[in-house]
Amino acid sequence: MTTDHSTTAAPSPFDHRAAARDSLRGLAVGDAFGAQFFVPDNLPALREHRLPPAPWPWTDDTEMACSVFAVLRRQGAVDQWDLVQSFAQRHDFDRGYGPAMNRLLRLVRQGQPWGTLANGLFEGQGSWGNGAAMRVAPLGAWFAVDLEEAAWQAARSAEVTHTHPEAGAGAVAVALAAACAARSRGQRLSRHELLRPVLTLTPPGQVRDGVELALELLDQPHVQLAAHQLGNGSRVSAVDTVPFTLWCAATYLDDYQGALRATASAGGDVDTTCAIVGGIVAARVGTDGIPAHWNEAAEPLPPWVEPDRLGSDLRRQDFPTALPFQRPEPIPVPTTVWTAGQWQRVRQGIAATDMDSRWDAYLEGDRLFLHRSWTGMCIFEVAVEASAGEARPVQAWVESDPERYGRGSDETERDRLGTLLRILFGDRPAPPAD
Ligand SMILES: [Mg+2]
Repeated sequence: MTTDHSTTAAPSPFDHRAAARDSLRGLAVGDAFGAQFFVPDNLPALREHRLPPAPWPWTDDTEMACSVFAVLRRQGAVDQWDLVQSFAQRHDFDRGYGPAMNRLLRLVRQGQPWGTLANGLFEGQGSWGNGAAMRVAPLGAWFAVDLEEAAWQAARSAEVTHTHPEAGAGAVAVALAAACAARSRGQRLSRHELLRPVLTLTPPGQVRDGVELALELLDQPHVQLAAHQLGNGSRVSAVDTVPFTLWCAATYLDDYQGALRATASAGGDVDTTCAIVGGIVAARVGTDGIPAHWNEAAEPLPPWVEPDRLGSDLRRQDFPTALPFQRPEPIPVPTTVWTAGQWQRVRQGIAATDMDSRWDAYLEGDRLFLHRSWTGMCIFEVAVEASAGEARPVQAWVESDPERYGRGSDETERDRLGTLLRILFGDRPAPPAD
């Protein structure tokens, strides 16, 4: 079950990798710009419409967002283990992380289980800080073709450090806004049109109530009033950060510079509010929409994220040890239907990163090939059919040489293939019925 939000394809050609990279750069420049206003000497510059002196180093917001982007480029989806390991390995104590996150990431590096650590924060309530929202805008841009997928992946990205439902809702709301911004590139989009889908798909709670109030406040232009009503991040919670940033992004949707000046003028957790707004607005206006002198003043992205290497979908030549079928036999087709976001993942393919992943997958024309990663043997081949916003398997074959694969009955193999496809590309639970 999907709503028309998720199945309406974004305008073609839409390059989700470039949109996510642009959002990441917008986030980093915003973070770096905002962080300058923790220096009291720089506050007059903001009032007088000057810029603080360069260089502007970015903070933890950007460092974590780079991990989100790197994992998506590698895997096409949020792999929670990979994501939290990247957070922990890239963690630089001097980038302004909060004390709880410093400790959590140090313990993850020492091998402690992230799930237990994240759940245990703040006496077992889990963190409801704005740290999951501050890093998620590029993920929204990545999944812009499918808002429900964007929401689901955002929630998964939050969970590894922030398990409180409000922190997760904050990440979902920001990802949805970035997705709406990215999919509207080159088209008119009203302020209300940016936020209405966010309201529809953000889970109920205080963040969602705040988004609803932000929508009402779009009809007035005063940033100080918006901050007064919605918060400005000074309590570093998702509730007190996300609705205000969405108001700023929607109000200045086509004006990166104006958006960040307005956001910073409200004070509060200003590197994070500016990171969120910068990530959303740049998902729409692109890196060309970031003023050149701002871009030059802000610290470049770290070399390990390789922002100029966007990657591409996997193909047969990426798997030199892949072996062709020996004896393919047809089996019934599982009743799988992929949404636009899941289809994007199928097209990207999967390269097993370790022995536990077990499967390599790549698409060639209209055929999806699934190989055992440790033997290279092809076990399943699937013919796929794609139409606007949706795709599905239409024929399937299984390796039937007993030397290569001990196949079961046709029905058993159909069920195995169906389970495998769900695990690899589409494990999102169905949304609750209205
Ligand atoms: Mg920060």
